[in-house]
Amino acid sequence: MRDEAISGASPGGDRTDGSRRQRSAAGDRPAPEPAAGAGIVLVDTHCHLDFPEFDPDREQVVAAARAAGVAAMITIGVDLASSRRAVALAERHAAVYAAVGIHPHSAREATPAALAELRRLADHPRVVAIGEIGLDFHRGRAEEAVQRRALQAQLELAAERGLPVVIHQRDAVEELWALLTAPQAPRVEGVLHCFSAGPEWALRWTAAGWFVGLDGPVTFKNGEDARAVARAVPLDRLLVETDAPFLAPHPYRGRRNQPAWVRLVAERIARERRMPLDELARRTTANAVRLFRLPLAEARGGGVRVGGAAPPPMG
Ligand SMILES: [Zn+2]
Ligand SMILES: [Zn+2]
Repeated sequence: MRDEAISGASPGGDRTDGSRRQRSAAGDRPAPEPAAGAGIVLVDTHCHLDFPEFDPDREQVVAAARAAGVAAMITIGVDLASSRRAVALAERHAAVYAAVGIHPHSAREATPAALAELRRLADHPRVVAIGEIGLDFHRGRAEEAVQRRALQAQLELAAERGLPVVIHQRDAVEELWALLTAPQAPRVEGVLHCFSAGPEWALRWTAAGWFVGLDGPVTFKNGEDARAVARAVPLDRLLVETDAPFLAPHPYRGRRNQPAWVRLVAERIARERRMPLDELARRTTANAVRLFRLPLAEARGGGVRVGGAAPPPMG
């Protein structure tokens, strides 16, 4: 199942003119219906559904998310194998979309052959972004120069394909800023996911047109930095995510995270911003639809219903 053929990919690709994609990310599938009975509609813009933590019950995890009002989940690749699995999952589930990319920890894997395959995967109609890519100087699992080269190559791929990028950053925010805002930088848009650089940097990035993604840490006791970001960023630049199976929000901290719990992240951000949850959900879902060009009818129309059940305490 992990290496099944990617039936929708078009090897070689034909969109090399740098123009934004015209087609929607729906492929041949109908747009997913809103979850029955759920008034709050959210998008988990960053999860890792292909990780082995979900092997025992992946289908139930996706179903639980849908039941909790998660209209779409973007499962993010961290290397080539994970990117292939992400695409396979997106083929199987109408509410799951894929991002393909090589994480800075795996930067050594970004050989010309790997990048050629990534380019092929990126043409799949269910792929909505290149990611996660970026710089992580925290644990230094790959040499900094190798990380820079892998990032640069994948930024160029995103620009060439007209896809947004999902950026992972740790202890490298100044270098990333210099790299992405340089006059010769590839022209891409995207999100700095799991934003950890504080409110001042968040304002700088959002002013430059980038989105900021927030997850479990906004609910943590020691998450004041993330909450300051949640209060500071303009609402039209904010995305919610889980990074599941990691970073489970309070009161599930330490357990396996799941996309259904993105609701807990949204609730905490709404509280911090002193705004109703349905408004926060409507705005962040609209942001996700806009950035990743998701074909969600309920979000496009803006008519998100109010009410809905709390996420089930499973996982
Ligand atoms: Zn990350
Ligand atoms: Zn991640």
